[in-house]
Amino acid sequence: MKCHACGADIVPEDIVPVERMVASDCQPVRANLRLGSCSSCGLVQKEISQTWQDSCDSIYANYRIYHQSAGAEQKSKSQDGQFGPRSALLSMFLRKHAGLPSAGAVLDIGCGNGAFLRQFRDHFVDWRIAGAELNTSFAEDIRAIAPDATFLTLGELAAFSGKFDLITLIHCLEHIPDPVAYLDNLRRLMDGDGLLLVEVPDAQKNPFDLLIADHASHFSISALRCIVEAAGFDVLSCGNNVLGKEITLLARRAERPARKPVADGGTADFLPSHMAWLDRVRGAAEQLARRQAIGVFGSSIAGSWIAAHLDKRLAFFVDEDEARVGRSHMGVPIVAPDNMPRGSVVFICLEPRLASQIREKHADKGAELIAAPIVE
Ligand SMILES: [Zn+2]
Repeated sequence: MKCHACGADIVPEDIVPVERMVASDCQPVRANLRLGSCSSCGLVQKEISQTWQDSCDSIYANYRIYHQSAGAEQKSKSQDGQFGPRSALLSMFLRKHAGLPSAGAVLDIGCGNGAFLRQFRDHFVDWRIAGAELNTSFAEDIRAIAPDATFLTLGELAAFSGKFDLITLIHCLEHIPDPVAYLDNLRRLMDGDGLLLVEVPDAQKNPFDLLIADHASHFSISALRCIVEAAGFDVLSCGNNVLGKEITLLARRAERPARKPVADGGTADFLPSHMAWLDRVRGAAEQLARRQAIGVFGSSIAGSWIAAHLDKRLAFFVDEDEARVGRSHMGVPIVAPDNMPRGSVVFICLEPRLASQIREKHADKGAELIAAPIVE
């Protein structure tokens, strides 16, 4: 296995095979995929094999954006405790910290149904907006945001020669093999001092990110910074400063060629400890389900992953997100915490601190709530 960011060999001791994963739209995926950790650039990643490419092709061909909540954007918690759609929190961050001029042109790569561009346009009314996506499913949604809005497929973007003052990649870069080459190539679409905003999940903070089949890279703060700098950008800020469990990076295009990423100082190899913890979580849920069919608290990545191991022993999902309640996922209903069947057993498949908060909050609802095991 070779690192897809720096080309270094990844030694067998740093490789873990995983058979059951979840697509980023929370559908279960079964394939022989491998995770590895590069000791040279520090990036934890998937092996970019034919199997991985085939899995991604099939995921994207059937992609169901936020289907549990009928297309509504998932709410996130900001670093200062605000709760709102990710796009709104990111637009506010740009307004406060990016020093953007009153007018300009923005390109959102991986724009989906336009959740970010819509919010951005509300905050920056005199900016021209453009969205790029793999296929044309959401082209009309993007064009409907503003009279001058542009939609491009990724194929059209590759041949595009216009310039942008800001390029955003929101939950996009982690899907792309060879991120240094990809970012380096984007520099041709930017003027001298163009800005880049990258938002990715923080895999070091969230072990469940490793289970997302179509994520090629599982970034830590240091690995993301290293890759963006290697691609020829000056990083202005990088950290969990907008959304607690995600990394927000703001960078400016620099006049220097791209180079190979090399980690300076210690690399954070969280792969072995995360995998060991995920094994314990799976073991705990499977043991509970031996007694009776159980409910799973949380219908996103983690809940869907654990549910895929339960098969017929999965009775229902529980979710606090009202947009999901009343819908179904993986063939079972999603119920509100208030409607958990009395006497049922519910496994809370969330990171331990959050899981114990949820358990306390809903302790009086008549269901037996079991939290995921703590990290040792
Ligand atoms: Zn590497």
